[in-house]
Amino acid sequence: MTIKDLYVRIAGLVGPKVLSPFVRAAERMPFVGRMIEKEYEQLALDMRSSLRPYDDRLVSYTSLPERGRARDEVLEEMERLREEEDSRWEEGFVSGAVYHGDPEHVDFLNRVYAVNSQTNPLHSDLWPRVVKYESEIVSMTADMLGARVVESRGSDGGVCGVVTSGGTESIMLAVKAYRDRARKKRIRRPVIVAPSSAHAAFDKAAECFGMGIEHVPVGPDFKADVEATRRALTRDTVLLVGSAPGFPHGVIDPIEELSELARERGIGFHTDACLGGFLLPWAEELGYDVPPFDFRLPGVTSMSADTHKFGYAAKGTSVVLYRGHDLRHHQYCKYTEWPGGVYFTPTFAGSRPGALAATCWAAMVSIGRDGYTEAARRILETAAEIRDGIERIPGIRVFGDPLWVIAFGSDEVDIHSVLDHMTEKRWNLNALQFPPGAHICVTLRHTQPGVAERFVADLRDAVQVASRTFPGEKPKVALYGMAASFPDKRLVDRGLDLYLDTLYDIKRR
Ligand SMILES: *Cc1c(COP(=O)(O)O)cnc(C)c1O
Repeated sequence: MTIKDLYVRIAGLVGPKVLSPFVRAAERMPFVGRMIEKEYEQLALDMRSSLRPYDDRLVSYTSLPERGRARDEVLEEMERLREEEDSRWEEGFVSGAVYHGDPEHVDFLNRVYAVNSQTNPLHSDLWPRVVKYESEIVSMTADMLGARVVESRGSDGGVCGVVTSGGTESIMLAVKAYRDRARKKRIRRPVIVAPSSAHAAFDKAAECFGMGIEHVPVGPDFKADVEATRRALTRDTVLLVGSAPGFPHGVIDPIEELSELARERGIGFHTDACLGGFLLPWAEELGYDVPPFDFRLPGVTSMSADTHKFGYAAKGTSVVLYRGHDLRHHQYCKYTEWPGGVYFTPTFAGSRPGALAATCWAAMVSIGRDGYTEAARRILETAAEIRDGIERIPGIRVFGDPLWVIAFGSDEVDIHSVLDHMTEKRWNLNALQFPPGAHICVTLRHTQPGVAERFVADLRDAVQVASRTFPGEKPKVALYGMAASFPDKRLVDRGLDLYLDTLYDIKRR
C-alpha cells in the first residue's frame, strides 16, 4: 500500500465530487457515518497487510524476551530479510532512496562505522577525531559550494556551518536561526516566502517555530516565479527560499534573481541544495548549463546540502551553511541554568552518532573530486537517456527542463494508473500532485547497464496499458488528483494518521 493507494481509497469513500459541507452533514447521518467507518476499517486491514508483512511470519516482540537471543541467530534473521528486500533498489528499480549502493562502497562505509561506532560528538573532549571529521565535512562542502570557511574570530563575512542528521534538520536549523534573529529585531511573527515546489521541511519548520509561510505558485516552467515572489514579500518576511533543484520536478529556481531580491530587502535567502549540492558543482564542471545557485551569489545567506544523498554517505548526515557567524550563533541551543550543567549543542540533538560523521567524512575523502565528477557524469548521461526516452512516448510529457530528476505527466492518460502499472513491474517511483505526475530521481543505481532502457520500455508499456484501461476517457484527475480533489481534508488527515499508526501497531497474539 502506497500513500497514493491510500488517497485513492479515501477519495473512493465519499466520491470526489461531493462538496465538503455536504460530506460533513452526511457524516452526521448514522447510515453514512457507519459506511465511512466500515471503509476505514477495511483500509486499516489493507494497510496492515501491506505495511507489516512480517507480523504473521516472524515472532513479534511486544515485550523484551525473557532470555536474550543468540547474536548469530539475530544476525541470520536480519540477513534473510535484507536479501528479500534489497534487490529492488540494488537492481535499480527505485527512484532516489539509495544514491550509491555499490557493494564495495557500502562495505567500506560499514567498516568505517564499525571503527567509530561508540563515538558521540556531544563529548567532544572524549572524541576529538569526530570534531575533526565534522569540521572538515563542513569545510569541504562550503568549498564545493563557492565559499571558504573562515575562522570564527575572523571577519563575519565567511561561511560556516554544522553537520546535521539530514536535509530536514538542516532546513529546520536554518529556519530557527532566521526566526531567532528576527525576534531580536522584534518581528513577532516572522514569515517565510517559498515557491510551492519548496520541500515540505519548510512547512514543518514554520509550524514548529511558530512562523508563517507563504507559498508562491511556480510558473509553467515549474520554476519559482520571481515577480509573484516580489509581490508576496511583506514587512514580516524574514526568509526567502529557492531550491537547486526542487524535489518534485528537479528544476532549479532562478536563484540569482531571488537572492538579489532578498538582498535588496535585507532579508535572508536560503538555497535548498539538499538534492543538488553534491551534483550541480560537478555538472557545471562537466559543461552542463547550471545557473548560479551557491555562495558565489552575494544574496545567498544560507544553504543546505545532503551528504546522505549525492554525497554518498550513509543515511543520517547533511550540512547546513551560513554566510556569517551571526546566523550560526542564532542556530545554536544554549542553556546555562540547568542543574545538569551548562548545556549547549550545535544542533537539535543531544547525543549524536559520531560514527555517521566519520562515515560521511570517509565517503567524501575516498571519493574525492574525481570520483564525484565521474559519478555525476554517469548519472547525468543516464538521466538524459531516460528523459529522451520519456519524451518519445506518445501521451506523456516531461515537466520543465530537468537534469537528473525527471518528472512527467499526461493530458491523455491517467498518470497515476501508469504508476500502478509501473509498480506491478517492480518500479518504485514518486507520485506528484498539482499537477498529477510522477518522477524518477536518477542515482548511480540506474547507471548500471540496461536499467535506463528497461525503465523506458516499461513506461511505454505502462502508458499503453493505462490508455487501454480508460479508452477515450478523460484522465481521472478528479479521483487521482489526490488531496486537491478531496472533499474534506479531515478524511485525508485521518487516513494519514492511520497509515502512521499502522507502522507502530504490533499484532499481539
Ligand atoms: C531530500 C530533500 C530534503 C529533505 O531531506 P531529508 O534528508 O529527507 O530530510 C529537502 N529538500 C530537498 C530539495 C530534498 O531533495
